[in-house]
Amino acid sequence: MPLDFTLTPEQEDIKGLAHEFAEKEIRPVAAHYDETEEFPWPVLKKAHEVGLTPVSVMPEAYGGGGLDIISNMLIAEELHWGCAGIAVAITGTGLAAAAVLAMGNEAQKRRWIGDFCNAKTPVVGAMGLTEPGTGSDAMAIATTAKKVDGGYLINGAKQFITNGGIADLHVIFANTDPTIGAAGIAGFVVEKGNKGLSMGRKEKKLGVRASHTAQVILQDCFVPTENRLGGEPGDPDAGPGALGALQMLEYSRPAGLRPAASRLRQADHQARGHRLQAGGHGDQHRCRSAAHLARRLDGTA
Ligand SMILES: Cc1cc2nc3c(=O)[nH]c(=O)nc-3n(C[C@H](O)[C@H](O)[C@H](O)COP(=O)(O)OP(=O)(O)OC[C@H]3O[C@@H](n4cnc5c(N)ncnc54)[C@H](O)[C@@H]3O)c2cc1C
Repeated sequence: MPLDFTLTPEQEDIKGLAHEFAEKEIRPVAAHYDETEEFPWPVLKKAHEVGLTPVSVMPEAYGGGGLDIISNMLIAEELHWGCAGIAVAITGTGLAAAAVLAMGNEAQKRRWIGDFCNAKTPVVGAMGLTEPGTGSDAMAIATTAKKVDGGYLINGAKQFITNGGIADLHVIFANTDPTIGAAGIAGFVVEKGNKGLSMGRKEKKLGVRASHTAQVILQDCFVPTENRLGGEPGDPDAGPGALGALQMLEYSRPAGLRPAASRLRQADHQARGHRLQAGGHGDQHRCRSAAHLARRLDGTA
């Protein structure tokens, strides 16, 4: 049976809203934020007001919009069409929210997803899994969380973290018992103002420059026991532990891939404009290649 990719009327509306937002609110300021590498706070606030931040896909039970995953991808694609860097700044919080959703117990979801769904102002999240020595091999992280009286002491460093060091809430992955390998991995919520968490080097990037990517340093960072996502092993409502990190990636990766299609759409659009100005044969060839790739990704070629 063929898969049906026809959008529902509601999904068409959401796509239209996100496209209009990208055209009116993102495109006009994209060059400014790309050049200055400033965090686009005013655009993020407007996106939050109209419901285009990751809050829109959080469950209604915790104050979110309850949208489906396809709608999430449509929003991500349209925002990235406006500017990939600003889009990452708007959607980056979704990683931390997805981690709380995948790993948190009921009380934690109510508390922190509830925070992310704050109607008045965007609450920015960051998710720290990658480390200087660990990327794709995420289960090999070296950051530790040592059990101490009333909580945990986290020590280590995180690399390439979106919103790292500027977020209101960081979800940090650390190993509570390296002797048992990946089974010891857990997620911890580190709240703003915790002196054990600091920002390291902010990356200077070739692309997505309006998004903030930085190292996060954890030095004897104390977090209370109730900030361990899913609680302690053996708790009646204990979360999935390390498996939760993979569930978080599973949930957030589709919205991270769909923007590739919009970047090709954007490249096609810009190449066409360039061809009209330049008119050379080499340019025409590059334009056709970009247009063809864009159509293939959209499923129209
Ligand atoms: C702009 C930006 C924002 C980011 N934001 C975050 C964030 O918010 N939080 C976070 O935790 N991380 C973040 N990351 C990190 C990102 O998740 C990692 O870059 C990614 O996991 C890959 O890790 P790596 O860079 O170490 O590459 P590597 O793991 O070293 O991979 C390099 C290449 O080798 C390939 N490769 C790796 N292992 C294998 C294998 N076994 N077989 C075949 N090929 C393999 C990979 O596919 C890749 O092409 C961000 C990165 C960037 C660039």
